[in-house]
Formats: sequence, structure tokens, C-alpha cells
Amino acid sequence: MTPKYIDLHTHTMYSDGIETPKILVQNLKLNGIDIAAKTDHDTIAGYWEFKKAADAVGLITIPGIEFSDRDYHILGLGFNPDDAEFNRLIKKSEYFQRLTTEQRVELLHEHSIPVSMEKIDFYFPSSRLGKQNIFRTLYNDEECRQWLERNLPGASPKDVFEYTLRKKGVAAKVPHYYDLERYEIFDGIHKAGGIAIPAHLPKDIENINELDELRYAGADGFEIQPNFYEDNFDVISYQDVKDYATKHNMLITYGSDYHGSSMPRSLLGRSFNVLSQDLEERLFQHDNTDCKEACLK
Ligand SMILES: [Zn+2]
Ligand SMILES: [Zn+2]
Repeated sequence: MTPKYIDLHTHTMYSDGIETPKILVQNLKLNGIDIAAKTDHDTIAGYWEFKKAADAVGLITIPGIEFSDRDYHILGLGFNPDDAEFNRLIKKSEYFQRLTTEQRVELLHEHSIPVSMEKIDFYFPSSRLGKQNIFRTLYNDEECRQWLERNLPGASPKDVFEYTLRKKGVAAKVPHYYDLERYEIFDGIHKAGGIAIPAHLPKDIENINELDELRYAGADGFEIQPNFYEDNFDVISYQDVKDYATKHNMLITYGSDYHGSSMPRSLLGRSFNVLSQDLEERLFQHDNTDCKEACLK
């Protein structure tokens, strides 16, 4: 059987990526991918656009999303995008992110940075809002750009991110966190017929026992995201993740976490990222071809 190459973790302008779903499809196709998922944060907006463009060039698509709880990023793959209860969970998650963004904007205001929700909404009218949207608004908006020139002269975008939104940045820690609970995420994905896959674990894990916790919480498998976070293997390597999954009969998915061709991570292309039979059985057991409402945006 000819191998099928997968990339099941990508982002578009509907969250913090920079490309349209159509451009993403073109790039996936150019990279030789056979099966792909668009996994924007907390939204399935644009899925239909993605699927239509993919159908036209013979790329197979799987409905996808990336949720976050307090500690991990969790991918949902192969769910029914029309599931009403699941769509309510997605709306809740998107709303929580907006509340968090509002708090970050307030903190930036306290440091006299002239960014506002109106400005962010202006530049990102259809996106789920997060740190990247705030950050890009600092550069899109004239008034913010002038503030940066005046107050942080010569600072590179990396320095500005460090100062504003990165771990120790002035708006990194918000007073109230609004996160979905882990069980809500796993339950929601499962009830909508999908599989739940914690993403890029070496980035977030502090103890190898957390793999057990995630398995008990309902993780169906783990993601291997080889082109990033290679330098963060002090706790766990992808080989450890793979060995653990094999031992416990769990799935392995492959994803790039691509955000656009000018952004740090590149699409997977064709190498080890081959669709396994057990993953194929789980991804395609539901009819995912419909898309009536939420993903039409
Ligand atoms: Zn992530
Ligand atoms: Zn991601």
C-alpha cells in the first residue's frame, strides 16, 4: 500500500496563523501532504473553506481544533463539526480567550501602550483572539508603532514580545485565568466523535508521570511535532512519548504546528509522518463531510 503522509496540526488567520485556509491548502499540497487538519485555536471557523479548497486539489481533510487547558494544548481531530454541544464548548473556549485578551489589553494600558480591543478587532475581525493578535496589532496600528519607537527604541519584535507578552512580560500574567477544564475538553471531543491528542508535550511537561495523568484523563494518543522544541528534551523526548504510546496501545499523530510560510515552523513534507492503520481507523470512522453552520464562516 502506498504510504499516506499526514500533517494534522496547522493554523490559519482564523486564530494566530497568517494564511487563509486556501493558501494553507496550496502549501500543504506543494509539501506532498496527503491528509491534513487545520487546527486553529478554539475555533472551527474556516473549516469549510479549507475543505472546499482541499477537495479541489485532492487533499484529504480532517476536522480539527486546538484547545488549551491550564497546562496543555489538546488537539481534537476527526469530530463531527456540526455537533451542537461541541459547538457550544468551542464558543465558550473562544469567549474565555477573549476575556483573557481583554485583561492583557488592560495590563498593557496600565503601561501606557495605546492598544485596545477595538483595534485588535479591526485587524482581526474573524479570528479567535490570543497573544499573537495583540502582538501583531502593536505593529499594525500607527499609534502603537509610534509608542514602541518612543519608548522601546531599537527593540526587535522579539524584544517587544519579551517586554509585553512573553513569560515575564507586563501582560503575560492576567489576574483571572479563564480556561476550560481538562475533562470538558476530552469529553467534548469524544462526544462529538473525535480523538483527543495532547500536542507538543516536551514543551509543556514537567514530569513523565504526566503521561499517565493524560491517559487516565482520556487522551487517545500523543502528537509528534518534530520540527520544533527539539531543544526542550530535558524531561521527555519524542522517542519517550512514542514508546509510551506503543506500550499503552495509544495513537501517534504527526503535525507541524505551521502558522504561515514566514513563521518559524515549516510544514512536515514527506518523511516519517506516515498515516498508521490504527490512526486511519479512528480518524475516518465518522462521517465528517458535513458542515452546516459553525465552520462555514
Ligand atoms: Zn499548541
Ligand atoms: Zn498549534
